[in-house]
Parts: sequence; structure tokens; C-alpha cells
Amino acid sequence: MSEMLAMVNKSDTSGVLGILGGGQLARMITQAASDYGIRCHILTPERDSPASHVAARTVVGAYEDETALTSFASEVGVVTYEFENVPAPTARYFENRGILRPGSRALAITQDRLLEKDFLTSIGLAVAPYRRVDTVSDLKAAALDLGLPAILKTRRFGYDGKGQIRITSVEEIAPAFSSLGEVPAILEGIVPFAMEASVIAARASDGETSIFDICENEHTNHILDVTRVPAGISASASLDAKNAARLVASELEYIGVVTVELFIEKDEAGERVLVNEIAPRVHNSGHWTIEGAATSQFHQHVRAVCGLPLGSTTRRGVIEMKNLIGEDVHDWRRILAEAGTYPHLYGKVQARPGRKMGHVTRVIPEA
Ligand code: AMP
Repeated sequence: MSEMLAMVNKSDTSGVLGILGGGQLARMITQAASDYGIRCHILTPERDSPASHVAARTVVGAYEDETALTSFASEVGVVTYEFENVPAPTARYFENRGILRPGSRALAITQDRLLEKDFLTSIGLAVAPYRRVDTVSDLKAAALDLGLPAILKTRRFGYDGKGQIRITSVEEIAPAFSSLGEVPAILEGIVPFAMEASVIAARASDGETSIFDICENEHTNHILDVTRVPAGISASASLDAKNAARLVASELEYIGVVTVELFIEKDEAGERVLVNEIAPRVHNSGHWTIEGAATSQFHQHVRAVCGLPLGSTTRRGVIEMKNLIGEDVHDWRRILAEAGTYPHLYGKVQARPGRKMGHVTRVIPEA
């Protein structure tokens, strides 16, 4: 595996970081890598992807296409990814060559909600109550066990609220299972959370781990809308959240940036941190770090996967990051004119509903 000096000083392939996926996350990893003199190559099935606008090279091909994989692998020193649904054979292809960071175990666990919940439970972290569902009779038994309302989620390929359905009565059980395609699923009890939050950590190959301040997240239509930092949680909940991220990263022998999404429950006794899910990648709720922290999550990820020392995660003020979703982007000119804002557009042409077109960060320096 190529390390720091090889990455930065050589002009051969060890100085090239490969990224699977061509979306805005890959675009921002590429922009960060360029600050360290590292070129990025992208592998994506999409033509004219946001990352391709800034990358040194883009291979357009299916992730399962051996010819595309061979062409891509011949020119990169390290391969990372911007999304968790990398097909297992693709991950193995790069892992067998010793160049995949983070590794394939993080992908296998986070691609499957059941494996993910089992993993989190096995390392002692609290999660929502859940049951495995393979058949409609499993679902009936699970609903009886956990009580309704509850949320039925497909084990695989769910994101931004897709692949899940809330069941509120016994009559809805069979239709809910069939509307999700009768695929393997889990049933989750509803968590009466006071807040959704996330914690973003980076772990280097020597085990050094650094963690950003906890972010408070507000969703609209299941899509992240606003992130605020610092989160309005107690010091002890913040410590629990950071410890959870540290534990996840070390148990997975993780290299790179990992995000742990959280539910914060509050009552008279205090706050309780539950893990919702793990994203084995940089995350939308970490975009604030570009201007709001001494090192951004994207720089930190590049540092970790390329064997460079991790940077400081010190926060630069009170921060709000707002996503520009769909038509929000038409506010762009007004946002540009606003003082103290840091706007980012991802180079997407069509503003479809629900599509993440860009984001804006506001940093209020602390006195
Ligand atoms: P997920 O795809 O699992 O992250 O779920 C998307 C969103 O649905 C979360 O961000 C929550 O707002 C909500 N949600 C998911 N699971 C639960 C749960 N067990 N209890 C309450 N809300 C949930």
C-alpha cells in the first residue's frame, strides 16, 4: 500500500486516489485531495457526473464490468468509495489487490440492516428494538412482539426513507410487506427521539482516531435539510456518541471517515444515545466541516485512506449547513449575495424534486 511520500511525491499511479461513485461526495473528496497534490480517478456508470467535472480521469462503466475495473485499477494507488452499495465482488476485486480503504467488511455490514443491527448490538451499543422479517408470518409475530406502530425496513438498498414503511395497525401488515416487494426486511420499534444527530469520525491505519463535534440534524421528507453544530445535547450524551463512533471504527478496523447516525432520547433521567445506522463514508451532515472545522471531513478522509497524518477537528464557530434540494437551488443568486455564507453547487443540471443540488454553510464565529 502506498503511503504518504509515495502518494504525494511520485508521479506514478501511487499518487492517484480512485473513487467508486461520481456524486457530490466524490466531487468534494476530489477537491480536497487536490489540496494535497493528489489526483483522483472516478469509476461511475453515470456520464457527466458531478465528480467527473473536477477529477483527473473518469472511467464510465458498470461497477461489475471487469474491463472497466481493470482499466481503473491499473492507474490508482488506493481505492475508496462514496456510497455503501458497492457490489461485493467489486469490493473484493480491489481488496484482493490490497488497495481498498475502508475495507469490504464495513460495506458488508452497512449494506444489510439486519447485519448492521446485530453488529451494533454485539459491540454493546443501543439500537431501536428490531426483529428479522423474512415472511408475512414473521412480520405478524414481530408486530405482536414489538407493538405497533413500528417501521418495516428492507434489509438492503434503503436510503433517505426509501425501502421503509410505517405500520400502524394489524390490517396494514400484509399490504406493507407486499408493497416493499416481500423482500428480506426488519421491523423496528419507533424511537420517540427528541433529536436526530450524527457523529463523524476518522480512523487512520495505525488506529489513531479523530472525531468531529456532534451534529444535530433536521430532516424534511426523510431527506437531510439542516445540520447544526454544536448539537444541543449534554456533555455526557456527546461523550457517549463519540465513544460509539470510536468503538464502531475500531471494531471494524476501519480506515477513513465513518459516520454514525444517532437518535437522542430525552427524559427526566437525562439523554440516551441510540445508533440508527452507520455510513461507511463521508456524509451530508459533515459538509459543515469544509468551512466550520480546521480540517474538513473530505480532507480527513483523504488523509486517512492515503496514509497521511490526520488533521485537527477543531470547530470554528456555531455552524448551520442547509441543503439546497430541488428547486431550492433557484435561490442561488440571493444566497451568493448574503455575507458570511459559503455556498456550494454540485454541477447538476436538472433540479428534480428531492435531488441534492448543493448546500450552504453559515459560520458564526464564537466570541
Ligand atoms: P433510516 O433510513 O433508517 O435512516 O430512516 C430514515 C428516517 O426515518 C430517520 O432519519 C428517522 O427520521 C426515521 N426513522 C427511522 N427509523 C426510526 C425509528 N426506529 N424510530 C423513529 N424514527 C425512525
